[in-house]
Amino acid sequence: MPEAPKILSQYADCIDGVGGIIVENNNKALKFIEDVTRDADEVQKRVLSEILSRSANAEYLQRNGLNGCTDRETFKKVIPVVSYEDLKPDIERIANGDTSPILCSQPISEFLTSSGTSAGERKLMPTIEEELDRRSLLYSLLMPVMNQFVPGLDKGKGMYFLFIKSEAKTPGGLVARPVLTSYYKSLHFKDRPYDPYTNYTSPNETILCVNSYQSMYAQLLCGLCQNKEVLRVGAVFASGFIRAIQFLEKHWSLLCRDIRSGNIHSKITDASVREAVLKILKPNSKLADFIEAECSKGSWKGIITRLWPNTKYIDVIVTGTMSQYIPTLDYYSNGLPLVCTMYASSECYFGINLNPLCKPSEVSYTLIPTMAYFEFLPVNGQKGLTGSNSEPASLNDKEKQELVDLVSVKLGQDYELVVTTYAGLYRYRVGDILRVAGFKNNAPQFNFICRKNVVLSIDSDKTDEVELQHAVKNAANQLLPFDASLIEYTSYADTSAIPGHYVLYWEISVNDATLIPASVFEDCCFTVEESLNSVYRQGRVWDKSIGPLEIKIVENGTFDKLMDFALSQGASINQYKTPRCVKYVPIIELLNSRVISSYFSPKCPRWTPGHKQWCSQN
Ligand code: AMP
Repeated sequence: MPEAPKILSQYADCIDGVGGIIVENNNKALKFIEDVTRDADEVQKRVLSEILSRSANAEYLQRNGLNGCTDRETFKKVIPVVSYEDLKPDIERIANGDTSPILCSQPISEFLTSSGTSAGERKLMPTIEEELDRRSLLYSLLMPVMNQFVPGLDKGKGMYFLFIKSEAKTPGGLVARPVLTSYYKSLHFKDRPYDPYTNYTSPNETILCVNSYQSMYAQLLCGLCQNKEVLRVGAVFASGFIRAIQFLEKHWSLLCRDIRSGNIHSKITDASVREAVLKILKPNSKLADFIEAECSKGSWKGIITRLWPNTKYIDVIVTGTMSQYIPTLDYYSNGLPLVCTMYASSECYFGINLNPLCKPSEVSYTLIPTMAYFEFLPVNGQKGLTGSNSEPASLNDKEKQELVDLVSVKLGQDYELVVTTYAGLYRYRVGDILRVAGFKNNAPQFNFICRKNVVLSIDSDKTDEVELQHAVKNAANQLLPFDASLIEYTSYADTSAIPGHYVLYWEISVNDATLIPASVFEDCCFTVEESLNSVYRQGRVWDKSIGPLEIKIVENGTFDKLMDFALSQGASINQYKTPRCVKYVPIIELLNSRVISSYFSPKCPRWTPGHKQWCSQN
């Protein structure tokens, strides 16, 4: 198998020659990409055999009758293609403290909590210590690729808004937290040796501060103090970056006061954050005047290039549902390139974008064959893609045979991604739909098409049709005492203001609408929020990345008009079903033109870290 590129750590003590080392490391990384994509099938074969031989004694593989075999044919014959629900009993055993080799022969080091949910709670993805190396490897490929298109990035800093989230413990004592929280808290990130490519304006202490207000404030303050050094800015997802700019809009005068005085205001109480920021913050009235002048101009158009004038691009994911934020980012940055560098998940990190300056609509990710064993399920009308089931139906034998290997996918075809990981997921359906856009050597490059079944998303929340239906049904029950009922509904993710919020359009049947107090509809909004999954509620309560849910009551007959519109656009009357989510602007305009009244959720829903049934750590 091609050797992984050595990261700078091995050369940490010879900083003098860092220029030469960067060139050497960049070349190694590019050669690695060249090698593994050229030998993609061979690498995949070895990855599978390595995973299966290491975990030959895992109960799951034995139960399915693999009998120590490590070849593809036997693997595909005996191991089922599964989704999270199939693995739930095994995952619960691990969460409850069973340390026997159930899924993987290596000890499960922690659970990574996915933004995908099961029964309203985050899915728990088992992981092992060595996966951190694999994640670091993927990260180490990003800048060598970027450097081919934007040279000189080693001469300045990156202003990245990075955050950790709360963590919990399973009843068996394993930590459960999001993958990025796990990564930022690991020595791989915290103790990274000097590397001009991971030289960020945010000190580690500000990233590792669990209080999101203090973390954001401190990271912005440090970013502003070093504004001339910043060559690239970013966050993981577009929504997070926009949240930072909104925070600046609210707090710039306080930030300027701190820059003028060289002191941090008293709301920042975390001692380690204060200490780290004070190493960077020096009284600078000229800079404070400049920021004040820019921020008080009234328009925030181009604010990024105005305050950070040497910025060359914005590094954020704008593929998938995040594409809704592209116009806002263009506005704030005067059209700087938007760069999507990687495609990853809690299950496994998948791949990177080898052409990072391409348009967002053309982004494709090359799956790196060493990360996991990949298979692909063709989705031509595949059941479960557009159906209303939140979990994919199990596959019959014929469908199982349709799964193809990494190098056998066809250009232009859509597939659902299926992974086998070193940490104990075997033929696991990730739930993402990808389209083959091209090839790098023998490794396919994929456009990210969508996450199956997801109808609403503002930040990392992913609400599917079944959850929405269940939440709306719970809420609509509150109309019954008023002799009213819900006739039809649809929904919309409104991101025209930040934070974005869910909007539900309700058409109700009622004898006398004036008899229903506004508080009843507000309670309906709240009940919907209480019924949605924990990732949504966390976004509302903890991250404040989602605004209060809104119900808009529309005139009677509105949904008939919606159907007329769909038919006029070519829909078949026999097949027409009310869409449970709308995105098309003329339809939203039609709905908005018939709104009689609107109501917002009056308070935040309940949310605590960890699964409902566990006692949380924080
Ligand atoms: P999580 O399990 O919470 O880490 O979420 C992983 C999911 O986020 C993936 O399965 C995708 O649905 C989505 N995702 C990750 N990276 C990207 C990307 N570059 N573009 C679009 N969606 C992404």
